[in-house]
Amino acid sequence: MNAPVHMEPAVRTTCPYCGVGCGLIVQSDGHGGAAVAGDPTHPANFGRICSKGSALGETLALDGRLLHPMLRQGDGTLVRAGWPQALDAVAEGFGRIIERDGPNAIAFYLSGQLLTEDYYVANKLMKGFLGSANVDTNSRLCMASSVAGHRRAFGADTVPGSYADLDQADLIVLVGSNAAWCHPVLFQRMMHNKAERGARIVVIDPRRTVTAEEADLFLPIAPGTDTALFCGLLVELAERGAVDGAYVDAYTSGFAEALTRAREIAPDITATAHAIGLDESAVAHFFDLFHASARVVTCYSQGVNQSAQGTDKVDAIINCHLATGRIGKPGTGPLSLTGQPNAMGGREVGGLANQLAVHMGFTPVEIDRVRRFWNAPRMATREGLKAVQMFEAIERGEIKALWVMATNPAVSLPRAGAVREALAKLELFVVSENVRSNDTVNAGAHVLLPAAAWGEKDGAVTNSERRVSRQRTFLPLPGEAKPDWWIVAEVARRMGFAAAFAYRSAADVFREHAALSAFENDGARDFDLGGLADITDDGYGTLEPVQWPLRAGEAPTDSRFFASGGFFTPDRKARFVAPEPPALREATSDAFPFRLNTGRIRDQWHTMTRTGLSARLAMHLPEPFVEVHPRDAAAAGLTDGGLARISTLHGACVVKVVVTGGQQPGSLFVPIHWSAETASCARVGELISPHTDPYSGQPEAKATPAAIAPVVLPLRGFTRTRRAVALPEGTWWVRVAVTDGAEYRLATGQGPMVWHDFAYRALVGDATLAEQLDGPVYRAAAFVDGELDGCLCVGPADAPLAWDAAALHGADGARLTARISRDPIGVTEPVICACFGVGVEAVRQAISCGTVRTVAEIGRTLRAGTNCGSCLPELKQLIIHEHIAHPN
Ligand code: SF4
Repeated sequence: MNAPVHMEPAVRTTCPYCGVGCGLIVQSDGHGGAAVAGDPTHPANFGRICSKGSALGETLALDGRLLHPMLRQGDGTLVRAGWPQALDAVAEGFGRIIERDGPNAIAFYLSGQLLTEDYYVANKLMKGFLGSANVDTNSRLCMASSVAGHRRAFGADTVPGSYADLDQADLIVLVGSNAAWCHPVLFQRMMHNKAERGARIVVIDPRRTVTAEEADLFLPIAPGTDTALFCGLLVELAERGAVDGAYVDAYTSGFAEALTRAREIAPDITATAHAIGLDESAVAHFFDLFHASARVVTCYSQGVNQSAQGTDKVDAIINCHLATGRIGKPGTGPLSLTGQPNAMGGREVGGLANQLAVHMGFTPVEIDRVRRFWNAPRMATREGLKAVQMFEAIERGEIKALWVMATNPAVSLPRAGAVREALAKLELFVVSENVRSNDTVNAGAHVLLPAAAWGEKDGAVTNSERRVSRQRTFLPLPGEAKPDWWIVAEVARRMGFAAAFAYRSAADVFREHAALSAFENDGARDFDLGGLADITDDGYGTLEPVQWPLRAGEAPTDSRFFASGGFFTPDRKARFVAPEPPALREATSDAFPFRLNTGRIRDQWHTMTRTGLSARLAMHLPEPFVEVHPRDAAAAGLTDGGLARISTLHGACVVKVVVTGGQQPGSLFVPIHWSAETASCARVGELISPHTDPYSGQPEAKATPAAIAPVVLPLRGFTRTRRAVALPEGTWWVRVAVTDGAEYRLATGQGPMVWHDFAYRALVGDATLAEQLDGPVYRAAAFVDGELDGCLCVGPADAPLAWDAAALHGADGARLTARISRDPIGVTEPVICACFGVGVEAVRQAISCGTVRTVAEIGRTLRAGTNCGSCLPELKQLIIHEHIAHPN
C-alpha cells in the first residue's frame, strides 16, 4: 500500500518582482520547493502571471543563501557569529558614531523589495529615534520622479486611477515604458482591450522595443524630449478647444502659466516635430488620437522617471490630463507603472529621505504630529540625503555608518565603481541580505545579517494601483534568517528604545502603520489605512487585496481620485506645472558621441540574485549585450555577435553586440542586470553619470554620453561546472544558470596551455580529467565515478566547440553526450518561450515551412505562449518577420 501523500495547504501570496503586484497561489511540496500559479481572484492579474512569476518555484533553493550572521575580522575574513553578538555590534556601532559625529553621520539605504512592515520599522527608528532623515531607497532610482511630479501637481503622492482603467480606455499611451517586458501582465491586459474593444496603443520611446512593435502608432522620439512632446500636445489641445474649462476653472490653478510655457517650448506641431526629431505627420497623428479619445490613460515608467528632468516630464504629462479633465474617471488618467514590488509601500511609509512618514513631510506641524504618535525622543527635522547624494557623502567621509537592506547599490547606483570604493571607507557597514555574496557584500561589509526571503517572510506590499496585498509565508525560515522588521526592532531595543519597538509580529507593525496613516487625518491626507488599524491577527492573516484610501468607519469607496477635484494642496486645487525646456544635462562629444540608454530585459530582475537561479529564465537572453544601429555598427567596425567596449567618463563595460534597426543612430542600449558575480565586465551602473533631477533626486540613467569600440578576443568557449570558478585573468566571461550548476561562456586571447592549467585547477578536485587538443580546439572533461562532473572547450570562434565527451572517456556515450554536448557561445539557439523552453529557431522553422501561421497555431503545435503569455509579442513579431522574409 502506498504511503499517503502529504500536501501542504496552498498559500495565496504576491509576486516579489515588479510593481504589477500579481497575486499567486503557491503549493509547497514540503521539501523547500513549490509550484506557483496565478491567483484568479486577485484583481491585479486575475490569474495571469509572466515568465518571471511562473519560474519562482525554481528560485527557492538555499545554495548561496546567507543563513547566519557574519562579522568581518581584522584580517578581512567573515566569520559566523550569533545573533546577539551581531546585533550588539550594529547597535553599539551606530550609537558610538551618533554620539561622536551626530545623527547625520549615519544612513539607511532601503529597498522596494522590503515589505511595508520592514520599511515602517526602519523609517521609524531612523527618523524618530536616531534623529536623522538619511533614509533612502533604491526606489529613488525607479519612481522618485513620479512621486515628485504627483506631489507638485496633486499636493500628495497620489496615483489617481486603477488598472481597471486599462480595460476601459479608448487610447493607451505608453511613454518610456517597455511594458511588454517590464510589466507583462498589465501589457497583456492592454492588448486584451485592444483586441476586444479596439483600444488604440501609442508607444513613445527612443527605442523600438517589443512593446513598440505592438503599437498602432510608435513615436521614436529623440532622447530626453518627452516634455516638448507633451507641451506641444497641451498647446494643440488648447488650439482645438479641447480644454475642459469647467474642470480647469473649478479644480485647478496655474493653467495659463503652464500653457504660456508650453507655447514657448513647442508652439505648434512643426516646432514639436522639430524638437522631438520626428515628422509632423506622426506628431499630428498622435495629437489627433489624444484629442479624439475621451478615455485616455497615459502610462509612464523608467523612460520618463530616470531623467534629470523626470519630474518636469511627469508634470508635462499630467498637465494634459488635467487640462482635459481626463483624470479620476473610468478609463482615464496618468498612471505611473512602478518598477518594484513594494516601491509604493515604501512611499506610503515615507521611507524616502524627502518624506517623514505616511505621506507627511517636514513641516513643524507634521514633525510634531509624528513625534507625538511615536512618542519619539529625537525627531529628524529636515530632509535627509537622497540616494546619489548619500553615497557621495559616504565618499567624502561625512557618512560613517551605513545599513543597506535588501539591495545592491554597488551594482545599481550611478558611478557604481565609485560607490563600491566609497563603501570600503565606512567605519560601520551593515548589510541585511538573502545572499552570502554580491557586489555590495563584497565591497567590505562589516556585519552581514541573514534576512528572510520571499516565501519565508510575512507582510504587506502595495502595487502601482494603490492595492495592498499580502506576501505570506509558505517556507520555514532557513538557518538563522529573520524578518527585516525583527532585525531592526532588535537593534532599536539594544539602543534603548525597547518600548517603542516591542512588536511581536508583522501584524503588530501593520496595525501601527495603519493607525499612523489615520492619526489626525481629517481627509487632508490622501493615504489613510485607518480602516485596518484595529485589524486582528486573524484578519491580517486573511486580508484580501484592498485599495486605499480605507478610512476608519467608512466602506471602501470608488477606487479613483480627483474626478471632482479634491486635490491635497492647501486650496484643494491641482497645480499645473510650467516645465523647463527639455535639455539633457551632459552633451555628447567627439570622445563620447553616443547616448547610453539602460533598461531591463524580459526574464531577469534587478541584479539577478533570484531570477539568475533559473536555468530556463537564463536562456531567453543569457549574455549581456549592447544594441547598436547598423549604421553606427558599420562605422565603428562592430559585428553582430562580436564583443564591444562601451565607455563613459565613469567606467567601461565589455558586452556582446546586437546590431538592430530598433536602436536609433547615435544611441546605445545596455541592460542593467549583470554584476561582478555574473559577468567579467558588464555592470552598466558603473558607466552612468550621477546627474539628478532637482526635485526628485532621481539620476539620469538613460542618456550618458558614451563611446563604443570593438574588442577582439579570437578564442571562444565555455566551461560547465557544479561550483563557482575563477577564470584566468583577462578572460571575458558570463555565468549562466544551467540545471545542476553553472555555465561560463567565455572569450579569450589565451591559448590551450592556459586552459589546460585552468582545467587542472578548477575542474579536477576528486575527478579524473580527459583532455583533447583537436587542432586549435582544446577540450577537457572531468569525470567522477564515470559521471561527467565538468567540462571545458576553447577554440577559434568559427570552430565547432560542441563535442561528444564520451569520445574522451569511453563511458556511457548517450548519457554523457546529452549532458555535455551543447552549442558554442554565440550559436546557442535562444529560447523564446521560457515556460516550455521553446527555441526561436523551432518557431521560425515551423512558420517558414507553413506548419503554423498564427500565434494560436504556434501554441497548439509547439505550446509556446500558452502558459504565461510573456512571449506572445515576440511570437507575433517572428510571424511578421518570417512572412516578410518568406512571403510565399
Ligand atoms: S507581471 Fe510578472 S513579475 Fe510582475 S508581478 Fe506579475 S508575475 Fe510578477
